Amino acid sequence: MKINTHYSELPTHYLFHDIDLRVKDYLTAHPDSKLLRIGVGDVSRPLPRVIVDAMQSAAEELAYSETFRGYGPENGYEWLQRCIIEHDFRPRGIDFHPDEIFISEGAGSDLGNLSDLFDRSNKVAILDPTYPAYVDANIMAGREITLIPCLKENEFVPDLPKEQVDIIYLCFPNNPTGAVLTREQLRLWVEYARNNHSVIIFDAAYEAYISSPDIPHSIYEIVGAKEVAIEVHSFSKSAGFTSVRCGYTVVPYETGLQAMWMRRQCTKYNGTSYISQRAALATYSPEGKEGIALNLNYYKETARMIHDELKSMGYEVYGGENAPYIWCHAPYGWDSWTFFDRLLHQCQIVSTPGAGFGQCGEGFVRFSAFSNRTDVIKSLQRIKEQI
Ligand SMILES: *Cc1c(COP(=O)(O)O)cnc(C)c1O
Repeated sequence: MKINTHYSELPTHYLFHDIDLRVKDYLTAHPDSKLLRIGVGDVSRPLPRVIVDAMQSAAEELAYSETFRGYGPENGYEWLQRCIIEHDFRPRGIDFHPDEIFISEGAGSDLGNLSDLFDRSNKVAILDPTYPAYVDANIMAGREITLIPCLKENEFVPDLPKEQVDIIYLCFPNNPTGAVLTREQLRLWVEYARNNHSVIIFDAAYEAYISSPDIPHSIYEIVGAKEVAIEVHSFSKSAGFTSVRCGYTVVPYETGLQAMWMRRQCTKYNGTSYISQRAALATYSPEGKEGIALNLNYYKETARMIHDELKSMGYEVYGGENAPYIWCHAPYGWDSWTFFDRLLHQCQIVSTPGAGFGQCGEGFVRFSAFSNRTDVIKSLQRIKEQI
């Protein structure tokens, strides 16, 4: 047996481990302090009742022979595929065949697994800073990676690659910077991919946080994108499904990859839980939509509060307008970890150091609108008085 030695080339993402260690040290020295965690990337609001009811009745069906279900279709139930097309795409003038919509257990696994479709020799472009999964999956596969810097000089909007690349990962609204692409900016990427025979893997996990009318929600709003783009969606951040697990991936026939992905899923994935798919269906019901909108508005308001307050204190802040993340430049020339430590020691605040998302994240920390509102208000007061 020979192991896959590429695993030894993986960068050590000690980010959350390092945060935990520093927090633990702090708590050992100050056992009575109550920490305010305002950097976390997981949702916190409870699910709307109608979604929980849908899961309960789906589970109940499994208790009776008349309604019991075994394996479902590998790429998901058609009632969910059709509902997704009707609600997420047709209103934007986009249409798909249900077989182009692959229901998943969340975006995370598909973002990693899509790498199965491509040869090892492909050149991969990934933004820096980035959500770590794209880098890791391609290192595991032994591919060469080009990092595209996202800098404050251009509001964290990446320039097109200077050399030819084959696979491009884009995530907008962006985690961690909160940046978005305008229609025109996204059009340039689609054009690049068309001219270079590249494929774009578009991570739309934060699409629900877009408020500005001119920001595209889907890459398929750009003419010609169906030939060059795979789009990955998740109910995690939109509907609070980080524990429920459900998402979907769009692989248009025009990419020439739909049959391959179907084959891959039939072999390596046996379908998303029936209970999760019924929960996902309920997110599109009138009560589901209403409950989700309440949660999203709450997060959006928290984001605006963090952004506006920090800005009024003189901080250089980005994001937060069409994304749940606020990307804050460290003051006094501090690096990410110095700012993190000052926030922890002087304000009892736990943030997320930007350097953990890549070299270009150095000098920033990420704040999150998923945080408890009361903690956010207290945190902002402490930052104002103590940093
Ligand atoms: C949270 C997140 C996802 C969603 O992951 P799931 O596996 O669906 O929970 C995808 N992409 C990014 C960038 C994220 O931050």
